Amino acid sequence: DEHVTANDLETLDRAHVFHPSTHLAQFARGEAPSRIVTGGKGCTIVDRDGRKSLDAFAGLYCVNVGYGRQEIADAIYAQAKELAYFHAYAGHSNEQVIRLSSRIVDKVGLGMQRIYWGLSGSDANETNIKLVWYYNNVMGRPEKKKIISRQRGYHGSGIMTGSLTGLALFHNAFDLPRSPILHTSCPHYWRYGREGESEADFSKRMAAELEELILAEGPETVAAFIGEPVMGTGGIIPPPEGYWQEIQAVLNKYDILLIADEVVTGFGRTGEYFGSHTYGIEPDLITIAKGVTSAYLPLSGVIVGEKVWQGLEKGTDDLGVIGHGWTYSAHPTCAAAANANLDIIDREDLTANARETGGYLLKSLQEAVGDHRLVGEVRGVGLMAAVEFVGDKDTKAAPDPSLKVGMKMSAALLEEGVIARAMPHSECLGFSPPLVITRDEVDQVVSATKRVIERIS
Ligand code: PLP
Repeated sequence: DEHVTANDLETLDRAHVFHPSTHLAQFARGEAPSRIVTGGKGCTIVDRDGRKSLDAFAGLYCVNVGYGRQEIADAIYAQAKELAYFHAYAGHSNEQVIRLSSRIVDKVGLGMQRIYWGLSGSDANETNIKLVWYYNNVMGRPEKKKIISRQRGYHGSGIMTGSLTGLALFHNAFDLPRSPILHTSCPHYWRYGREGESEADFSKRMAAELEELILAEGPETVAAFIGEPVMGTGGIIPPPEGYWQEIQAVLNKYDILLIADEVVTGFGRTGEYFGSHTYGIEPDLITIAKGVTSAYLPLSGVIVGEKVWQGLEKGTDDLGVIGHGWTYSAHPTCAAAANANLDIIDREDLTANARETGGYLLKSLQEAVGDHRLVGEVRGVGLMAAVEFVGDKDTKAAPDPSLKVGMKMSAALLEEGVIARAMPHSECLGFSPPLVITRDEVDQVVSATKRVIERIS
């Protein structure tokens, strides 16, 4: 609208846009910063003032192929002209979603064959919970309904998925249902490991705690366990040695389904196509979103394994049509974006770049800031990394929360032209850049991080 001047835009934004995960009052009063982003290319975004930032968080760990890919825009345009939308109810389909589903199940392997399509990670996890409940009802065990997630896990902001999320910030004042959700321990070895306990022993203890919880609740009441192969929003925490093997043994013992939430770890980020491949996880259900389209359009999915699928088929033979449907499920234009995105991931072998350049990022961060007295741990896998701050390096005591170290570091980094995220639970900076990041760009991110830590300490 030519009547809207650049300055009006900010005023209109503060007046009319309800921003997610934002201090609403401060933003409305003009006390919190505003940034109107206008473009992006590769790993860099630009705002309307011409200020560029190297985005070392890929938006919200989603822009895997980087910004400004003409080829994805062209695929979206071509599909929208041909058939922007038709639904997928009752046997209707479209070529884009058929190709997409079959190429993804080929990549996953593990005998998984079918994908239910949604639009966000949250809605896909809501689907997961419904499928697990439906499955157990159909299998004649209506009491097997509880879902176990982990403290500091992140699975979305819906009513049930917000409850699965094990971070207090996402529960505050929302009255999310507690039942039937349970939380088990966060497997962060550096933070929660005991004096003298090896990483493998810590993993065994995590599995023993899980088993205790299951026994206390009654295994006949526990339906599923959900976890991110590498914890994301809880602080970018790779699993300790042997963790997934120990956890899976407990779940198998009590016939509890495993949901791998690969919303962040899917499509190359951990250095393999899926985080489940990196850690030898054999899930019954997998959540995908984000990297499937690199966020050029919204798309999510639930990949359904054979065991659950058999139950769902039995259910519809017993009960008729399954009463679960989104208008936008299997959206052809979103699927076209996904196909073009996956073409790029394959052609440019971005999974290999996540592995190699990710290794370089971790090593560079460790060398640059690992010994600093404010840094407790530098951790990561593939193109996911975190620098965790401490108040006291020897005792690992967290910094005084009133100092807001993580927030200050990320604000100072932004001044240096680099975006890294202050993670909401602990005082740490998270890095999860586009999978196209180069060593040169990693060097810029790491040297800015070093300057900022030295300046603020
Ligand atoms: N699951 C995981 C592991 C996530 O990191 C996220 C979002 O960050 C979600 C689910 C929720 O996805 P969405 O924000 O698309 O609803």
